[in-house]
Amino acid sequence: MEYRRLGKSGLQLSELSLGSWITFGKQIGNNIAEDLMKLAYDNGVNFFDNAEIYARGESEKVMGKVLKKMKWDRDSYTVSSKVFFGHRGTENTKPNQNGLSRKHIFEACHQALERFQLDYLDLFFCHRPDKNTPIEETVWTMHNLITQGKILYWGTSEWSAQEIMEAHMVAKQYSLIGPTMEQPQYNMLHRDKVEVEFDQIYKTVGLGTTIWSPLASGILTGKFNNGKNPVDSRLNMEGMDWLKDNMVNKSNISRAEKVEVIAKELGLSMPVLAIAWCLKNPNVSTVMLGASKTAQLKENFKAIAAKEKLTPDVMEAIEKALNNTPVRLMF
Ligand code: NDP
Repeated sequence: MEYRRLGKSGLQLSELSLGSWITFGKQIGNNIAEDLMKLAYDNGVNFFDNAEIYARGESEKVMGKVLKKMKWDRDSYTVSSKVFFGHRGTENTKPNQNGLSRKHIFEACHQALERFQLDYLDLFFCHRPDKNTPIEETVWTMHNLITQGKILYWGTSEWSAQEIMEAHMVAKQYSLIGPTMEQPQYNMLHRDKVEVEFDQIYKTVGLGTTIWSPLASGILTGKFNNGKNPVDSRLNMEGMDWLKDNMVNKSNISRAEKVEVIAKELGLSMPVLAIAWCLKNPNVSTVMLGASKTAQLKENFKAIAAKEKLTPDVMEAIEKALNNTPVRLMF
């Protein structure tokens, strides 16, 4: 396992990390969650990702119980939460129970710590931008949580480069700690932000990235190729129609089918190739994996060794197969 700096910060994260969206506290039993975390930790993973909204707080409880049971040294792993959506789901949320106001960020942080049974969070993300809260309020609150020892690094998720820069400008103006990292979606089918939009701010503010959905929720495993439709998969879970409608379409499947041919030629499985491709991007600090079974995680760890098979020629062949190189405007 390689460890990469989270942007320009001193923090080192394992190049592969483990997330818990949809799985922990929902799709899988707590025993499987424990097995996944053990397997990850034993393979060198030092970052576990979570959020207040995941399984409405249950995911953090499950993860916290495992961390407590395992008794791993607290300084040997990092753990995150994210604030914005609240832990109740939008339909049950009262004013101030979501968003990025001082009140909600403060309360979300303490509630997450309680669910995790931890004293501090290593990473704390603003899960989405909040158009109704002045950016000054959010930056001040995150800074204060750091000085109070409740969180160590703060960041954003699905913010634009401009929004991230606004946060940095406020931080600079008041000598506060700005966002260290962004959590964007990044995979072979979703590339623009990570490859083009953030290009400048990797250099200027030294942005780190913890990227999500490297397998596009399973599309890039090839299991939906050629009209297949596995019933025991995330996209066929009850209530996930919105995601399935978004992900299973002609252009995504056609790209997945073309990449599968390259994976076969290289003697790699499709998920391994897709994850190794993300790892090849030096602006990715860590690729967050999701898994519903330990066999999947074991397979996905092979991406570390597979990186060396992704030579410039192979990367070019993948580029041609994908035919979705993000456009870079040069004026
Ligand atoms: P992926 O796109 O990699 O999807 C993971 C899912 O794909 C698994 O749960 C499993 O689902 C399937 N899968 C994984 N490996 C294999 C394999 N080898 N063979 C077959 N199927 C496989 O990642 P996620 O979407 O889970 O994202 C990773 C993490 O990122 C999340 O857990 C979460 O922590 C974070 N995240 C953050 C977001 C944000 O807004 N900040 C949004 C989304 C995620 P199944 O078996 O059910 O098909």
